[in-house]
Amino acid sequence: MNTRKRLAAMRAAGAIQQSSEALPANPACVVGQGQRCQHALVDGELNRRLFEYENTVRGRFSPIVDTLKTLSAFQHELDFVSRAQRVAQDRLGYTLPESLLGEAWVSGLDLRALHSHCIFRSFRESVERADIDRASWVERMAINKAFLNECGYHTVDVSPCADGRLQGVLPFVMRIAPNDAVFNKAYAGALFDVEGDIADWSQRELARLSGAFPGWDNTNYLKIAVYHYSTSSPGDQGCAAHGSNDNKAVQAALGRLNELRLAIENTFGIGAAPDILLIGVDTDTDGIRVHIPDASGELNPQRYVDSIVLYRETIDMNADQARNAIETAVAASEQADGWARGQGGAPAGLRRLILRLLEANLSQIEYVIQHHAGRYSVIGHDEDFICAGEATNYVQLRNKFYYAHLDTVEEGAADMDVGIKIFTGLNIRHGLAAPVLVHFHYSSRVPGARERAVLRCKRVKAAILSRYAELTDKGLLHCQMAVSDHEGSERCVFVEDDIEEHGH
Ligand code: ZN
Repeated sequence: MNTRKRLAAMRAAGAIQQSSEALPANPACVVGQGQRCQHALVDGELNRRLFEYENTVRGRFSPIVDTLKTLSAFQHELDFVSRAQRVAQDRLGYTLPESLLGEAWVSGLDLRALHSHCIFRSFRESVERADIDRASWVERMAINKAFLNECGYHTVDVSPCADGRLQGVLPFVMRIAPNDAVFNKAYAGALFDVEGDIADWSQRELARLSGAFPGWDNTNYLKIAVYHYSTSSPGDQGCAAHGSNDNKAVQAALGRLNELRLAIENTFGIGAAPDILLIGVDTDTDGIRVHIPDASGELNPQRYVDSIVLYRETIDMNADQARNAIETAVAASEQADGWARGQGGAPAGLRRLILRLLEANLSQIEYVIQHHAGRYSVIGHDEDFICAGEATNYVQLRNKFYYAHLDTVEEGAADMDVGIKIFTGLNIRHGLAAPVLVHFHYSSRVPGARERAVLRCKRVKAAILSRYAELTDKGLLHCQMAVSDHEGSERCVFVEDDIEEHGH
C-alpha cells in the first residue's frame, strides 16, 4: 500500500484525525483544528445515495478475482463443476459457462478466459439493472431535463475525453441526471467528430421544428466539450491524447467547438449555431473549471471559474453567502481584463446553467474529500476492460472501462493501441487477459439495422484479433460483441460468433 492509500485507509478507520500535520495537503480543503470539510451547499443525502450506487456497481466486479482463485484451488476435485457453479452463484450472482469448466480436470482451468467472461458478465448485469441502480439518485440530481429547458435548451450534447477517469463526469462531476435530452459522446482528447455532430444537431433541430418538443419550441442546442488535467501530476497524468499538455488540451477542445459553430453558421446562416461551453476537469479531485462565455457566446482559455477555489473560499459561509460568492466569481470573470477579456456578460440561460454547475460540483468535491481523502488514490488508469466501437451510457462510473471510439479498426487504430498499452500495464503484466467489448448501437425503427450492427461488430472483432495476433494467440486478449437498440428495448445484448453472416 502506498502512503496516500494507507493514510486514506487510516483516516477512514478513524485511526487518525484530520489535521494539517498528519496528512499531505488536501487540495480542496485545508482546515484548522476542530473544523470539518462540510460545505453548506453540498447535498449530503445525494452523496450518500451516489456512494451506495458506486459500491453496488463496483461490488459486482470486486469479488471476481478472489472467486476465481477459490475455483482454481479445487479444480481437480470430483464434484468441481457443480461446486464451482455454487460458489459463482453465491459470490457473483450468476453461474459460469459449462464449456469453461468441464475440461478443467484434464487441461486445467482457463482462468484468463473465465476472468474476461466474468468482467463482461458483471458489466451486463450492471447494464440490465441500470434503472434500478440509479433510481435512488436520479430524482435528486441538481440538473435535470426540466432545468435544462428552463435554461433554454432542448438538447445538451457532451463530449468528454474518452479517458476512463471521465466516465462519471455527467452524474458525479456535473450532477446531470441521465435523460433523453442529454447525450454523452466521448472522444480521445475531447476531439469530437464535427461532421457527426452536425448530423446529430440537424436531427434534433428537425425534431424540434416538427414539434417533437412541445412547450419548448424556442429552445436551443448546447454543445459542451470537457477536457481534463491533473493538478498533482500535470506532466504525466493529464490528457494522454495531448501529451499531458494542459494548454494543448484546452486549445484543441475549444478549436473543435468553434469549428462546429462556424460549420453550422456557414451552412445554415448566422444565428443557427448551437451554444457552446467548455469545461475542464481535474481528474485528481473532480473539481471543474467552467469557461465563461461572453455576450456573443465566445469562449476564452483564460476566462474561467475554478470550483476548487470556490469550495476553499466559501467553506465557512452559509448557503446564501456561498451562492452570492459563486455569482460574484462569475461576474468578476465576465469583467476580466487582459488576455481573459470578453465582450459583455454570458447569455442569461447559459449563465444560469453555469451557476448551477459550479454549485453542484461542490458536492462532488466533498464526495472525493469524504471517500477518497480529497484526491483519488489511483490518479491514473484503473479500468476493468476496453470498450471499442460506441460506448454504452448505462453505467457511468470513473475508470469502469477504457473507451476507443471507432467505426473501423483502421480508423480507430491509434485509440485502440493506447488501450492495449494501458492494459499491458494493468492486466497483461499480471498474466490476465485484456477484455475487449465490441459494442455498437442500432435503431429498431430502421429495417435491417440490427443485422448491420452485428456485422460491424464481427468485422471489428476480427480486425482486433488480427491486429493484436500475438496477444490473441497467447490467450491474452478476449473479445465479446454486444449491440444496443437506440430505442432502448435491447441493451448491451451479447452477440455470439455462430450467427450466420449474410454477404457484404
Ligand atoms: Zn484525455
